[in-house]
Amino acid sequence: MIDVKVIGTGSSGNCYLVNMNGTKLLLECGLSFKTIQKALNFKLSDVSACLVTHEHGDHSKAVKDLIKNGINVYATKGTFEALNLSGHRAISFKKDKVDTYCYHFFNRFMILPFQAVHDAREPVSFYIKDIHTKESLLFITDTAYIKYKIPSVDVLMVECNYVKSVIDKKVQDGKLHHVLRNRIVKNHLSLETLKEALKQADLSNLKEMYVLHLSDSNSDEKYILEELQKLTGKSIKIA
Ligand SMILES: [Zn+2]
Ligand SMILES: [Zn+2]
Repeated sequence: MIDVKVIGTGSSGNCYLVNMNGTKLLLECGLSFKTIQKALNFKLSDVSACLVTHEHGDHSKAVKDLIKNGINVYATKGTFEALNLSGHRAISFKKDKVDTYCYHFFNRFMILPFQAVHDAREPVSFYIKDIHTKESLLFITDTAYIKYKIPSVDVLMVECNYVKSVIDKKVQDGKLHHVLRNRIVKNHLSLETLKEALKQADLSNLKEMYVLHLSDSNSDEKYILEELQKLTGKSIKIA
């Protein structure tokens, strides 16, 4: 069983608690330490590790406090450098000779980071698999597009930051500057890009899909939900 609890999502702070067959992992920690503690009912010690995709504050805010409180944090070397963090609890993902990430083993879990397309030092997304049950989860956020084909997974957590037609209309109406528009397009996943990626994916094992990191002003929750449900035939949860 993979259980997902959304503690926070979006530019105000991302943090998700994933319970994979009893092992609790935090994905991102972009909220105040206090908020995270509260969401965990002050049982931080139940958390086995925290995985961070990149250094932006909305994903990493509590990282120092987590480490101070004995939680191991996993991220890329570039992310730790950008955060100015080192020490035995700051565990960086290894790369092989051809500069692709290696599987990282952690308890009974296999974690594969893979490159994201975002204005950060070394941003990644995560594929996580429980070796015992073979259940898997894919966590994709803060990326302009998905560089690889979405593998068959049980749980998909994926960004849908904006709807292209919404931001293009805003630019037309003078409500959004084209420079800002371009920054969004180069760094975040649109509904349109996500749909293309989903069309090529094998969703036959998919049990849960969470849509993350929606922009308040550049997305349309109802429309996103309808479009993705229509495309996948699955029930979708907007985080
Ligand atoms: Zn973000
Ligand atoms: Zn970011």
